[in-house]
Amino acid sequence: MSAGYTVSVRGLCEFTAKSGDLSARFTPAPTAQQGIVGHQRAAARRGPGYERELTLEGRHHLLEVRGRADGYDPGLNRLEEFKTHRAGVDRIPANQRGLHWAQLKLYGAMLCAKRGLPELELALVYVDIQTDVETCFREQFAAVELQREFDDCCARFLAWAVREMAHRERRDRWLLGLTFPHASLRSGQRQMAAAVYRAAVGGEALLVEAPTGIGKTIGSLFPMLKAVPRQRLDKLYFLVAKTSGRETVRNALELLGTGAEAPALRVLELIAKEAACEFPGRACEAQSCPLARGFYDRLPAARTLAIDTLFLDRDSVRRAALTHQVCPYYLTQELIRWCDVIVGDYNYFFDTSAILHALTQVHQWRVGLLVDEAHNLVARARDMYSASLVPAVLADAVRVAPPALKRPLAEVERGWRAIHGTQADVYAVHPHVPASFSASLQQATTLLAEHLAEEPAPPDQALLTFYFQALHFCRMNEEFGSHSLFDVTQRGTAATLCIRCVNPGAFLAPRFAAAATTVLFSATLSPGAFYRTLLGLPRSTAWINVPSPFDERQLEVRIEPRISTRYQDRGRSLSPIVELMVHQYRDRPGNYLAFFSSFDYLDAVLGLFQSRVADIPVWRQTRGMSAVERGAFLARFTPTGAGIGFAVLGGAFAEGIDLPGERLIGAFIATLGLPQVNEVNREIERRLEALVGSGYEYTYLYPGLQKVVQAAGRVIRTATDRGTVILIDDRYQGARVRRLLPEWWRVQCS
Ligand code: SF4
Repeated sequence: MSAGYTVSVRGLCEFTAKSGDLSARFTPAPTAQQGIVGHQRAAARRGPGYERELTLEGRHHLLEVRGRADGYDPGLNRLEEFKTHRAGVDRIPANQRGLHWAQLKLYGAMLCAKRGLPELELALVYVDIQTDVETCFREQFAAVELQREFDDCCARFLAWAVREMAHRERRDRWLLGLTFPHASLRSGQRQMAAAVYRAAVGGEALLVEAPTGIGKTIGSLFPMLKAVPRQRLDKLYFLVAKTSGRETVRNALELLGTGAEAPALRVLELIAKEAACEFPGRACEAQSCPLARGFYDRLPAARTLAIDTLFLDRDSVRRAALTHQVCPYYLTQELIRWCDVIVGDYNYFFDTSAILHALTQVHQWRVGLLVDEAHNLVARARDMYSASLVPAVLADAVRVAPPALKRPLAEVERGWRAIHGTQADVYAVHPHVPASFSASLQQATTLLAEHLAEEPAPPDQALLTFYFQALHFCRMNEEFGSHSLFDVTQRGTAATLCIRCVNPGAFLAPRFAAAATTVLFSATLSPGAFYRTLLGLPRSTAWINVPSPFDERQLEVRIEPRISTRYQDRGRSLSPIVELMVHQYRDRPGNYLAFFSSFDYLDAVLGLFQSRVADIPVWRQTRGMSAVERGAFLARFTPTGAGIGFAVLGGAFAEGIDLPGERLIGAFIATLGLPQVNEVNREIERRLEALVGSGYEYTYLYPGLQKVVQAAGRVIRTATDRGTVILIDDRYQGARVRRLLPEWWRVQCS
């Protein structure tokens, strides 16, 4: 067994000193950035000789405890811990304050031991980030008293630490002996696995473009797991773009096995609160929810039960939670600390308030990141780091606001009107959010926060919606820079204000920097520079293209150059497209997908098709289809069936669906997939041109062709599939476009 177990003061206290109820009802908390600034300002107010950020260590048997105390005043022999807050100190829950004291006492014990102090004054200082007012709680302690607290706290954690050490050892031994689950690696899979392993042990970032069919999930997971002991990784995060991606990871992990009786590898699947909650609509606090009452008292038993479960998915976490009557959602969050592989949506690591990223920072974990279907991350991250203020949301808030909030909200309305009042055009980009508007919005959110914290639960939904919208807007405004646009879109007498993230790389770079190694993979990650730049990956990030396992003879790719699908040519294109589809179908009947750039275009072609052809079955994608409707659409693609499914490019049927063999024998793609040319995209293009010098390519060409290749990738799924892809547009002939098509395609012109 290894020499010892290292734990942070915070981790130790969270484990041992939290008791009582869960209280996750609305409590206005400072952002991480505000917390840092508040700490710095408080420390700056201290006099000369004040020691800031003291690194402290302590030992208890096998346990090594580490942490950094905020400050020590040798003149007063006082150790201080700063905690920032937004609303009154009395609103900080008692168990939270207990946790703060527990941390401070541990720091105190370690400082006394380090400097041989017989006694020490401890000061818990709450700093209001709005007013800078400090509320201080002080107490004098003898060193022996603090040491007793330290030993007691460590003793309560020791049994768990021993168990964790044993688990880590068993895990690493098991991983070292882990063998690839198939008899041999598939073509391309070996190259991918080798590159992933090299990147992981070298602590590098890697982009892998690998075609469908080589087994990317196992081809990335297996080498990354093998690198865990060598790289001393604490955890792997497998991040997916869609819920369906989790199923694939689960299958891959099941294939690897996770150990015999006790799991050698603890795997946890993160799920959204709405999906995990047992009492939807209730507030997460003792008065409203029985699973919040006494949560921390029953947590240890639930944690112990859950941790021995082979795969911690929604059902198994729920079983453990309900056995001990704790909330499954918050139990899942707790289990992150004790699991080795965490599977979840991108937002758990990349979002502005992502829990996986926050915990990684706080506990200084060494993590490996695997990002599945990484081509989606550019658009997803742009959404995460954009913020809008919608007039109807403010109007709803004003309507229900209590008298004390009417004035600050009226100020916001006034400032809002001033922004767009002089704007001549419907859409315009402004250089920045006016300072006066920022100030009134900030003031309104502060007062709203105080009001919401005092309101009996559940809080008013209209106020809450505006509060979160305004808070996110303020946060993005604090970080406003050349990576974003501030634009205003008028609708009648009102206007939507938007901080629109153009280059999310600026926000993602620190996230990738927090990981020990990162591998991003997808079937479409070309060109590498586009993804490297917009994802904020280090310059040293390698990009590899894994050759396709498919033979070029399996896929006939034809360009139809006599048709233009440009917006102005659409009317003329309908009839030739219908003729082309009918001709292809009669030549080789079977199941086809036909992709169009919009629902309007789809409707126009489908309408004409149905008016002319009665004997070819057709079915169509509609806007906002439910899961059942999507299932029904796909169910039409049977091995013995025939017909054409009409869909939109970039939609639910253009990626992530698997229709092998005769279930899909061809695709028509009547578009280049280029995003619509409109005011917003023109501004994005201009900004990207200024930032990276390839405005058109980054705004239109690369995102468009990525969608085309994804859609075409539906046709050949296995080594025995045969199929046809027809690319309908004369622009497919151009060298600039052809370069973006997969190398293994043998493209012919009709
Ligand atoms: S069960 Fe639902 S309401 Fe209760 S604490 Fe959990 S998430 Fe909150």
